[in-house]
Amino acid sequence: MSQLKNRIEQHIEMIATYTATPGNGTTRLTYSKEDLQTRNYLKEQMQAAGLTVKEDGFGNIFGKLEGSNPDAPSVLIGSHFDSVPNGGAYDGPAGVVAALEVANLFQQHNIKPTYPLEIVALVEEEGSRFGGGLMGSRGITGLLRKGDFHQLQDKDGISPKEAMQDIGLDPSLPKMRDPKTMKAFLELHIEQGPILEEKNIPIGVVESIVGLTQYEITVKGQAGHAGTTPMDKRADALITAAKIVSTLPDFAIKEGNGTVLTTGQLNVFPNGSNVIPDKVIFTVDIRSGEEENVRHVINQMLQCVDSHQGIGIEIDVEEKLYIRPKALSETIRNQLKEQSENCGIAFCSINSGAGHDAMVFSDVTDVGMLFIPSKAGLSHCPEEWSDVAHIANAVEIFYETAKQLTEAK
Ligand SMILES: [Zn+2]
Repeated sequence: MSQLKNRIEQHIEMIATYTATPGNGTTRLTYSKEDLQTRNYLKEQMQAAGLTVKEDGFGNIFGKLEGSNPDAPSVLIGSHFDSVPNGGAYDGPAGVVAALEVANLFQQHNIKPTYPLEIVALVEEEGSRFGGGLMGSRGITGLLRKGDFHQLQDKDGISPKEAMQDIGLDPSLPKMRDPKTMKAFLELHIEQGPILEEKNIPIGVVESIVGLTQYEITVKGQAGHAGTTPMDKRADALITAAKIVSTLPDFAIKEGNGTVLTTGQLNVFPNGSNVIPDKVIFTVDIRSGEEENVRHVINQMLQCVDSHQGIGIEIDVEEKLYIRPKALSETIRNQLKEQSENCGIAFCSINSGAGHDAMVFSDVTDVGMLFIPSKAGLSHCPEEWSDVAHIANAVEIFYETAKQLTEAK
C-alpha cells in the first residue's frame, strides 16, 4: 500500500512539473509543450506497465492490455490531462494516474483479462484552449463531428490540426470510436467541492452527474431621471430584478437533495448612476441530480417571475440550456460499493455538480465514477490538493472492479 502511495505521489509530482506557469499552479493547454512532456511521460509509464500505446486523431492516449478474447470490447479507465490556466495538480491527472496504477497492479499480479483493459488519457476536457470543453471524450463518442473539430480555433487563430502537428501528432488518425468497442468506462476525479472532506469519508460513489439548466431573464421597466421621478411613479427594472434574484435561492434550499441555483451574471441598462434602470438581464443556473427537482424549481421560478409582472414592468424568460441529469450505471455503482466494502474503505453516495468526461461516455457505454476529497473543496487553483492515500484507495477499488468487469483470471 505504501509502495502504491509512493508511486502515485511520484507521478503526480512529475506531471505537476509540466506547467507553463512554474510556481503558480498547473497551466497545461492542449497540444502545448507541457502537453507533449506529459504525453511522453504517460506513454513511457504505460509501456512500462506492459500496455500497447496508441493515440487517436485527437491525441487522446490509449494504453491497452489485450484480453484473451481479442475481439471483445474494452473496459476503459481514465481521465483528462489538460488543465485550466493556473489550475491544480490533481484535476484530471489524479484519474489518469489511478488508471495507470490499476494497469500496474494487473502486471504485478500477472492478471490476464478476458476483455481488454484500456488506460485512457484524454485531451482538452477543460476547453481552456479551444473552448466548449470535453473535446476528447466528445470526439471519441462521435458527439463532436469532424467538421466541427476542424472549425475550432484557439485565441491566436491556430486550429487543433495545426497545433497537433506542431507537437508531432497525426490528426489524420481515426477519431470516433465504435461504441461496440467499449464495455465500460471508469473515472476517478477529485470532488472539487467540500462534501467528502466535511463528512470525513474517503470515497464518493457518484450516483448521477447533475443536469444543467440555464435561463436568461429580461426585466423591462421605464427609464427616468433619478432626481425628478417620484418614488411612486417608477417602474425600476433593477428593483424588480433584485427582488427576484434574492427570492430564487430559497426554492433550491427548500427543494434540497443537492439542488443548487445561481445568478452569476447581471447586466443593468442603461447603467448610468443618475438614470432609473429600464432593463436588466440576468442568468439563472439550476442544477440537481434528479430531473424532478430541476423541473420543480423551474416551475417555482416561473411563478415568482409572473408575480412580479406589473404596472410598467414586463419580464421575459428564455431557456438557454437544458441538459438532463445523467444517472450512472446502477450495476457498476453497486460493484464499486461492494468493492469499497471488501477493501474496508468507507464510502458514501454523491452527485457530481460538474460535467466530466464520464458524463459524455455515459451516452454510449456503462459508466462508473469515484470522487475523492478535495482539501477545503478548492479546485481550478494552485491550492488544489488531494491526499495520495485517497487516490490509492480508488486504485484498489478500481483494480477489483476492473478484474470483475474484464472477467480476469
Ligand atoms: Zn477535471
